[in-house]
Amino acid sequence: MPEEASCPRSRVVIVGSGPAGLTAAIYTARANLKPTLVNGVPAGGQLMITTDVENFPGFPEAIQGPELIERMRSQASRFGTQFVDDRVVSVDLSHRPFRLKLGTQGDLDADALILAMGANARWLNLPSEKRLMGHGVSACATCDGFFFRGKALACIGGGDSAMEEALFLTRFATHVTIVHRRSDLRASRIMVERARHHPKISFQLDSVVEEVLGDTVVEGVRIRNLKTGVSSVLPVQGMFVAIGYDPATDIVRGKLELDENGYIKTHRNTRTSVEGVFAAGDVYDHRYRQAISAAGLGCMAAIDAERWLEEQEAMLAKPTPAR
Ligand code: NAP
Repeated sequence: MPEEASCPRSRVVIVGSGPAGLTAAIYTARANLKPTLVNGVPAGGQLMITTDVENFPGFPEAIQGPELIERMRSQASRFGTQFVDDRVVSVDLSHRPFRLKLGTQGDLDADALILAMGANARWLNLPSEKRLMGHGVSACATCDGFFFRGKALACIGGGDSAMEEALFLTRFATHVTIVHRRSDLRASRIMVERARHHPKISFQLDSVVEEVLGDTVVEGVRIRNLKTGVSSVLPVQGMFVAIGYDPATDIVRGKLELDENGYIKTHRNTRTSVEGVFAAGDVYDHRYRQAISAAGLGCMAAIDAERWLEEQEAMLAKPTPAR
């Protein structure tokens, strides 16, 4: 068999540059593992499209999402993380070292791998939605709900996320209208009942959003009833899109265990089904999805990877028993 060509090899390669990946980089770098972090394109994850972050401990006056990422990045860099501005297009997890194929910069080998590619909120893909993102359009009630005290809001979707987000938003909003494209709600019965019985929530079913109105901030949402064809305007000051998330797990599909929604399955903390591969952040956590929880999971994955590498070295160092 022809010998495989050699390529740069790192003790730890981290894939993803959101809070999970960057925290894993800070920890593995401080453990002297000289990690390589492949940023992904675009780099920085969901915080790059977040304005004020008010719930990350240590920033009582709030911090802008991109600035928080930049600070984490310089902290990781200070301890020796090598950053690669590229994306991973495929991985070979069938033998160690693992081999990653990058978009433009060749291959990279890793003794241990930390997957922190995150998840992407689904959007309606309307130009007006994109234009007003961060100015009244959001996909995270926990992050942004607080900014909508005393406002009327629209929440889009018919699943558990939409019900949960709408219920959470009632703490601040005067009213929340759930807009769903069908008459049947996908959400679990208990969540639907909670939303139905809430005095601040109403439903616009069989309806889709045609346009988010407003020049610089959201001033309304134009919806169209699919059954009647009639368009109308909801006078709201914010729109929360809650139509699900897609974990960015394409590169590992079929190579390690994923759940039915495509999230990485972990066993024993951050260990995945492939020994030596660890997961951190929204790529497996679909429950909390917060910058701080992603950072915490990045720390855990780094410590798990470090201990696993130590175990491997200890095994190799063990003298072979005499025959
Ligand atoms: P989901 O169950 O996939 O629901 C997504 C909703 O968005 C569906 O109602 C879907 O409509 C709608 N939708 C999708 N694309 C759309 C588009 N382009 N335009 C308009 N509407 C669109 O996602 P999820 O609500 O995020 O839940 C994901 C998983 O997490 C589920 O298993 C859920 O049970 C779980 N979860 C549980 C909880 C809880 O128990 N507290 C909370 C959140 C999530 P259709 O119905 O017409 O397809």
